[in-house]
Amino acid sequence: MDALLVVDFQNDFTPGGALPVAEGDRIAGPINALLDGFDLVIATRDCHCADHGSFAGVEVDPAQWRGADPPSIWPVHCVEGTPGAELHPSLDQEKVDIVLDKGHDRNSQGYSAFQDTRLGDLLRERGVDRIFVAGLATDYCVKNSVLDARREGFDVTVVENAVRGVEVEPGDSERALAEMEDAGARLATSDEILAERT
Ligand SMILES: [Zn+2]
Repeated sequence: MDALLVVDFQNDFTPGGALPVAEGDRIAGPINALLDGFDLVIATRDCHCADHGSFAGVEVDPAQWRGADPPSIWPVHCVEGTPGAELHPSLDQEKVDIVLDKGHDRNSQGYSAFQDTRLGDLLRERGVDRIFVAGLATDYCVKNSVLDARREGFDVTVVENAVRGVEVEPGDSERALAEMEDAGARLATSDEILAERT
């Protein structure tokens, strides 16, 4: 059983949003082309409280903070209930089976879709063994979700033309993809995936 995981394809991560990823909106085409071929499509949303510890200017107790990257490094983004936190309108949401919110813990970046969510259990309950991952951003939430998926034993393919990176440092996306490959994930284009699954 295969599932398509669309990570954080939200308004705030696309051009015009609070934490825009260059060409973030361009992933819609390849994602929409894949939707019909999957019996299970899960879209995650980064979903933060208004005083989330990842936001610049928010004070965090260092003893409480956990996980990747220090606190207070990102502009305010994806605050629960705001338009920025909504899925991007170009995503064909009628074909999304489950919307899963992540990043609720104010004391963690919450990059991974598996962190503090029931995604792992949900996939196992549905008999999923192969996950195809698209979304934003390559170098943060996609990477951490893929690495966690590999740790949990899933077969993972990254849809390489349906991801884009923040690129705080030039080359971050490429390095992230290499790290995912080193962890056993495969890279393939949406056309290659369509061809091999039909
Ligand atoms: Zn976030």
